[in-house]
Amino acid sequence: MEEIWGQACIKLEQSVGPNNFNHWIKPLRLTALEEGVARFASPTRFISDWVSRHFANDIMGELSRHGQHIERLRFDVIPQESGEPRPASEKGASRPATAKAARNASDAGRPELGAPLDPRFTFGNFVVGKPNELAHAAARRVSEGGPVGFNPLFLYGGVGLGKTHLMHAIAHDYQQRDPSARVLYLSAEQFMYRFVQALRESTIMDFKGMFRNVNMLMVDDVQFIAGKDSTQEEFFHTFNALVDQGKQIVISADRTPAEIKGLEERIKSRLSCGLIVDLHPTTYELRLGILQSKTEVFRQQQPDLQIGNGVLEFLANRITTNVRVLEGALQRLFAHASLLRREITLEVAQECLTDILRTNDRKISIDDIQRKVAEHYNIRLADMMGPKRARNVARPRQIAMYLSKQLTNRSLPEIGRRFGGRDHTTIMHGVRKIEELAGEDSGLAEDIALLRRQLEA
Ligand code: ADP
Ligand code: MG
Repeated sequence: MEEIWGQACIKLEQSVGPNNFNHWIKPLRLTALEEGVARFASPTRFISDWVSRHFANDIMGELSRHGQHIERLRFDVIPQESGEPRPASEKGASRPATAKAARNASDAGRPELGAPLDPRFTFGNFVVGKPNELAHAAARRVSEGGPVGFNPLFLYGGVGLGKTHLMHAIAHDYQQRDPSARVLYLSAEQFMYRFVQALRESTIMDFKGMFRNVNMLMVDDVQFIAGKDSTQEEFFHTFNALVDQGKQIVISADRTPAEIKGLEERIKSRLSCGLIVDLHPTTYELRLGILQSKTEVFRQQQPDLQIGNGVLEFLANRITTNVRVLEGALQRLFAHASLLRREITLEVAQECLTDILRTNDRKISIDDIQRKVAEHYNIRLADMMGPKRARNVARPRQIAMYLSKQLTNRSLPEIGRRFGGRDHTTIMHGVRKIEELAGEDSGLAEDIALLRRQLEA
């Protein structure tokens, strides 16, 4: 069965194109072929839904060509790390690249030492704006090869601002210009893992040899090796050997070399020799640009996708932390739209993304909540903090407590202080009470939903 699928995959990659193939079909695993049904394990519902709508005929056709009579595809959603099309370094686990990942890497002509590159992380897919234009220009420059004039290129910036994306883009580009070049990309964590493994297996000379043999070395999230002394030592030697040979090095971190605590001084100074550029936090314009570009890509695959007026603007406005979260929100909306075949209106977006919007929202304060609730129930703001126990005052107060717990990051004791110095158990009681009542009383539930929407708008 594995062989049949393997052969079908080769053909499918040609018929649907490598991009589609890597995105949608590669994450699938064929688990059974029986009675005209091909059964697959898919890492997400989104992928299986997509595949069954767009590639089902291709897949059935290919399987039939291999002597299987298939009339239907079935998918079981099995969240599974090795099924994900993401590079190993993105998973954040302390696990090394899997055997599968290593094989992928060598399939593409890269040495096995590295992590696979995400085919989506290209310059073409990178939206340039004020916050990242310098980093982008530097990355472009390095990807062109030749006498660049800065080594290493050190990219830094907060989580989800595009460091890994730019590094993969450099690797893709560089490799494309010179297919025989050996580009090695890996996370600092994987570097350490390989190093420790080589020590354990007494293959340290091979390890050194492999690293010193590349044309370009890219180490992602280098802050990871801070405080790990022998790994730092080895990194330092590798680094020096490559720079001495005029090989290009690209490093990323979440802060500048000088700011990485527990990193040796000599490494800091070597890292600072080249060009240090940062990715600034995104601006509204950049976020909107990214959303538009991703929507465009999606629309090419699904032309009937309908996004209501102002939805993208709303997201760009409200999700300000990082691009990964922004992308996740958009993916969820797309999934929603394609499953329900419904236009994504502002309301649908708000509803579908409540959790993301909530954690992204630093703007709603307990003050706002108290004011809004007092206004809604027509009581005095002072009664929120005051001691009155009459139901017409106490109930709105509890609603405000409940919303404060739901919509802010404040702890119960902090909320208690803001409600006239009440004990945290009183707040907890209030929150529970409202949860309970809202479950029975749909009028109250609607009231709360309305208040919440107004506060979040
Ligand atoms: P970092 O490595 O800085 O934590 P990533 O490079 O992994 O961040 O980016 C997070 C996600 O956001 C990726 O899916 C990436 O493609 C996307 N992304 C970040 N910046 C941009 C951009 N300027 N244009 C398009 N996508 C972006
Ligand atoms: Mg990264």
